[in-house]
Amino acid sequence: MLMSDTSQLLVRRIKDGTVIDHIEAGKALLVLRALAITGKEGNVLTVAMHVPSSKHGKKDIIKVENRYLETSETNKLALIAPRATINLIKDYKLVEKRRIQLPESIVGIFKCSNLKCITNSGEDIKSKIDVIDKEKMVLKCRYCARTLLIEELVF
Ligand SMILES: [Zn+2]
Repeated sequence: MLMSDTSQLLVRRIKDGTVIDHIEAGKALLVLRALAITGKEGNVLTVAMHVPSSKHGKKDIIKVENRYLETSETNKLALIAPRATINLIKDYKLVEKRRIQLPESIVGIFKCSNLKCITNSGEDIKSKIDVIDKEKMVLKCRYCARTLLIEELVF
């Protein structure tokens, strides 16, 4: 309790917006990338990395002010930050807390690792990666049917 209070103080409370908490330490920048948040949007954006956490040792936290991330957006984080929690804040109050759920398929975020795949041909085709087994995290490219490992996914 005390510990998490301390880590909350490192980054100021926000009035309205989304707090992505319990991101695996060091993954915050990947999370921003997956959400296509560049910092050019003009929202106040706070990124805290390697914050001491009582639960998992260290964690990253992202606060996006004046923006409420949709479930469809935050589910994109399932492969990068599966333990992250999404907190929606309105007028300094927590109005919704949700966990990330692995979607059935992930469209247009990761590249297929098969260089000969049509999604890597330079044509305007978005990658579609199906989640075949949610427990074992088995992923498959819908176009070339290659089985993909999480570690080899590239943006
Ligand atoms: Zn492919």
